[in-house]
Amino acid sequence: MNGHVFVIGLGLIGGSLALCIKKEHPDATIMGYDVSEKQSQLGKMLGVIDEIIDEIPKGAARADLILIATPVKEVERIIELLCDVPLKDNVIISDAGSTKLEIVKKAACLKEKGITFIGGHPMAGSHKSGVTAAKSILFENAFYLLTPEKDTRIEDVEKLQDWLMGTKARFLQVMPEEHDYITGVISHFPHVIAASLVHQAEKTSLKQNLITRLAAGGFRDITRIASSSPEMWRDISLHNKAVLIELLQEWQNEMDKVTQMLQEEQEVEIYEYFFQAKRFRDEMP
Ligand code: NAD
Repeated sequence: MNGHVFVIGLGLIGGSLALCIKKEHPDATIMGYDVSEKQSQLGKMLGVIDEIIDEIPKGAARADLILIATPVKEVERIIELLCDVPLKDNVIISDAGSTKLEIVKKAACLKEKGITFIGGHPMAGSHKSGVTAAKSILFENAFYLLTPEKDTRIEDVEKLQDWLMGTKARFLQVMPEEHDYITGVISHFPHVIAASLVHQAEKTSLKQNLITRLAAGGFRDITRIASSSPEMWRDISLHNKAVLIELLQEWQNEMDKVTQMLQEEQEVEIYEYFFQAKRFRDEMP
């Protein structure tokens, strides 16, 4: 497709989306804006974007597609700003944020102006950040969740998918609430747990200094995601706090049960606990 694409937030995800779009639509012009001048300049130098934009309204006015790939709190602020600036009538706006409900609510002001906003979340990534980590194969075969509203035109959803074809991702439409619950269970909550395991290792390492030296294999696997951007995860946790609080409550109840099984040396129940976890994990695709 020919046209102007404006990527706001040139980090891992924004940079990778820009590369995917350029690969599939070489005639498109990719404009990029980042609060960090360094990221913008790196983006241009690495060929991730064609043009650096120095103020959001300037890029927004020329864009046929706007993709917002900043931390989720910033996505909200940028949507507010976009509501107050001139845009092309047929522009499509989407985002890549890891939460959807708050963002879609915020986008109501765009809808009032007759502008199409379709929430998006490419379900692939890494604990690395910044445009230097961007790559065009990041989303291959991953799910790409979209949260169009009931009255969003099908043609607009299709147009967005066409723009994003180069991701080679599998598009799936869900409701924003559904999105936040699912990602809460499989991504946001495990992130809290990974961070808590690292905190526990840090505290205990004060008493036993072999802990950090010996923490390998399983510990590294299960805590890898704790190395992701704290800014990003602060925003995600706050956006999805209701789901996280519910899951934490359930987890605490479960940990109480595990404590009791150990205290009472319930061999059969302990075996079942691990056996059922293994069974479900092994059955996962
Ligand atoms: P990142 O830190 O690599 O990039 C974010 C970029 O946004 C940075 O370059 C930062 O300078 C820029 N930025 C921050 N505030 C801005 C603003 N107001 N205006 C313009 N630029 C701004 O992070 P990322 O991993 O690319 O994450 C971006 C979004 O994608 C987040 O909303 C995140 O929830 C979502 N996401 C991340 C992953 C992942 O695994 N990293 C996966 C799927 C979705």
